[in-house]
Amino acid sequence: MIGRVRPAVQGLASYRPGKAASQAEAEHGISGAIKLASNENPWAPLPGVVEAITAAGEQANRYADHRATELRARIAEWLSISAGQVTVGCGSSGLLQQIMYTYVDPGDEVVFPWPSFELYPVLTAQIGGVAHRTDLVDHAFDLDAVATAVTADTKAVFLATPNNPTGTTVTMSQVDDLLGRIPDDVIVVVDEAYHEFNAPENGDPIVDLVPRHPNVIVLRTFSKAYGLAGMRVGYAVAHPDVIVELDKVLLAFAVSGPAQAGAMAAIDHHDEAMGRVRELVDERERVAEALRQAGHEVVPSHSNFLFLPVGDRTDDVYLSMEKSGVVTRPFAGQGLRVTISTPEENERWMAAFTEALAG
Ligand code: PMP
Repeated sequence: MIGRVRPAVQGLASYRPGKAASQAEAEHGISGAIKLASNENPWAPLPGVVEAITAAGEQANRYADHRATELRARIAEWLSISAGQVTVGCGSSGLLQQIMYTYVDPGDEVVFPWPSFELYPVLTAQIGGVAHRTDLVDHAFDLDAVATAVTADTKAVFLATPNNPTGTTVTMSQVDDLLGRIPDDVIVVVDEAYHEFNAPENGDPIVDLVPRHPNVIVLRTFSKAYGLAGMRVGYAVAHPDVIVELDKVLLAFAVSGPAQAGAMAAIDHHDEAMGRVRELVDERERVAEALRQAGHEVVPSHSNFLFLPVGDRTDDVYLSMEKSGVVTRPFAGQGLRVTISTPEENERWMAAFTEALAG
C-alpha cells in the first residue's frame, strides 16, 4: 500500500457506475452496443440548450461563478421559493456527498431502504458511517421499517422516490407520517432524481414538506428528464440554514460554466423537455404492458426505467443481453434495471431479454 489509505477507503470496492457501450463492445468483440444502464435520456439536449452550453464554452478560460448565483435565482423563481432555499451541485451525486460531509461523522448511522441508489452505501462507507438498510416489501419502501431503524445515532435517512432501481414511489403524506415518528434533527433526504417521470398525485416535497420540516432536503437533477447527465448539475431545496451548511462543503467551482448555462437554458425550454418526458412515460407503459402480455413480471414504474425481477437468473440474463449488445444494470440475485429509450431501442432490448430468458 502506498501512503496510509484511510481504513474507510481500504474497505471499499471501486465504484462502477453503468458500463459504457464501448467497454461492452471491447469485452465481447461486438459492435453497435447500446447502453441502457444509467437511466439517461436517449435524446441529445434540445438545440437551444446545446447553443447555451456551446456559447458558455467560449469562456472556459475562466472559472464560473462558484455560487452559481444566477442559476440559483432562476431555479428559485421557477419553483416559487426563495434563492436562499436552493443550492446546486455537481449532479445530485455531488450534493449527496456534500450531505454526507455535512452531517455524518465516522460511526454515525445512515438509514435507507434497499435496494436503492447504489451511491448511498458507497458514500456512507467513504465517510466511515454505518449503513442500515431496510428491506423492501413488494419492491416498495416499508416506511415503518425505516422509522424503526432510526436510532439516537442516526444522522440521515435517504429516500429515493421514485426509487432506483425499482421505480416504486412513496407519497408525501407517507413521508410526512415518517417525519412525525423520527427525531427532527435527523436529516431526511427526498431524492427525486426521477421527479418529472412520477405521478403528480404522489405529492411534491418542495410544497408539501420543506415549508414545515426544516430537516428535509429535496434533491433533483438536470441529468434525467432534461437530458443533461453529462453536464453534471443537480439542485437541493431545503431550509436556508441547511443550504448554508451544504454550501460550506461545495468543491471549488464544482459546477462548470457550460453546466450552469445548460441548466438555465433547460429551464427556459422546460415545456419541450416535458413533452419528451411524456413520450418516455408512454413508451415505459407500452413496454411494460408488452412484457406482461408475454408473461414476464415487471414492477410498475414511475420512472424512466423498468425493473425486471428475474431473481437467480439475473447474472446470466444480464450477460446474455450484453453479449447481444444491450448493456443493462444487474442487481445480483434480484433483477435487471433497464432504461426506457427510443421505440427502436426498446424493441431491441425486449427481444434480447426474451431471447436471454429462453436461452
Ligand atoms: N439519485 C438517484 C436515485 C439516482 O438514480 C441518480 C442517478 N443514477 C442520482 C441521484 C444522481 O444523478 P446525478 O448525479 O446525475 O444528478
